[in-house]
Amino acid sequence: MKEYKKCVTCNLPENFPGISFDEKGECCFCKKQEVEWHEYKGMDALKARIQEVIDNYPVKDRQYDAVVGYSGGRDSTYLLYMLKNVLNLRVLAVSLSHDFMPEQTKNNIKNVADKLGVEVAFIENDILNKYGRKSVQAWAKKPNAPMLMTFCTGCRYGIKKLIPEYARAHNIPMLFVGDTPMEYMSYRVSIVCANPNKPTSVSKVMGYGKHLLKNPALMVSPKCLSVQAQEFLIDAGRNKQKKNPNPVTIRPFFDYVPWKEQDVISTIESLGWKHDESLNSSWRSDCYINMLRQYYYRRILGFADLELYYARLIHQGKITKEAAIERIKKESNYPPEVLSEVLHDIYNLDFNEIEAKIKKAEEKCEK
Ligand SMILES: [Zn+2]
Repeated sequence: MKEYKKCVTCNLPENFPGISFDEKGECCFCKKQEVEWHEYKGMDALKARIQEVIDNYPVKDRQYDAVVGYSGGRDSTYLLYMLKNVLNLRVLAVSLSHDFMPEQTKNNIKNVADKLGVEVAFIENDILNKYGRKSVQAWAKKPNAPMLMTFCTGCRYGIKKLIPEYARAHNIPMLFVGDTPMEYMSYRVSIVCANPNKPTSVSKVMGYGKHLLKNPALMVSPKCLSVQAQEFLIDAGRNKQKKNPNPVTIRPFFDYVPWKEQDVISTIESLGWKHDESLNSSWRSDCYINMLRQYYYRRILGFADLELYYARLIHQGKITKEAAIERIKKESNYPPEVLSEVLHDIYNLDFNEIEAKIKKAEEKCEK
């Protein structure tokens, strides 16, 4: 893999979208300190907002106050705990089940829900099962970094559509999501754009079209493309708030209280939540799709979510560069035999064949 120049302070590489360096080798993101601007309204404001929604909800005779999309991962486990034990809400966990869920994740869902005394409703995400699988198989014909985003075709659709529908049908007034300010600053969509340094909507559509033409197998079906368009091209993260949304979406860690990593792990472990030992990584290992995506982002670009995550922590002064490098090394170490097995068993793909294609593309690039 090509060696990229890296920021002397936060270690983000020169191929990171929108990056530039000063004469000392420090990047523009280090200067911005962009996380500092974020203001949280606080716990009291969160409680007041919840009370307001409950008071205004017309159906009084109901079983639950809130739903949370429960993936069994670290973040949603902590959110579920907070809703049940800190905010004392009558909460229902809705879990979108799919073919890409490790056994450990299923166990975590069950164990944590039992321990908290929370009911779990399971909905099968058929769109993800079908189009997620076909998209990975199509991607493997011509692997590249930008179209890794198609791996989870149907996932966001499920979260944005199936869970709110469920809440409406069961008269549940609030939907809680675990978004943090960090998630809105990503590289994954930028690298799809025709110009990754200027990720406008037009640039996004043009880049996406260009990649489809380069690998036409990715045009799986009109329905698949339509799901992708809804998920990636239209800014699904920032739908305009409707006047009377039902359910009302609340993002505690985006609008009200900061997300504190150190509290999260100890809390969820006390609820019986465990890492998937086979994955060798604590980082969002709740889903095989994400494991593959993270592996291939790092394989092709030299960085993935972890590098960005730790760069942010460095920007906030919460960790040193040396400690971050150490933790990334430990947490990004996906065993090749697990990757091989997942690719073979779930997608009927061969790890070494994909590897050979990536190598060939790299050699072509160097010439
Ligand atoms: Zn930097």
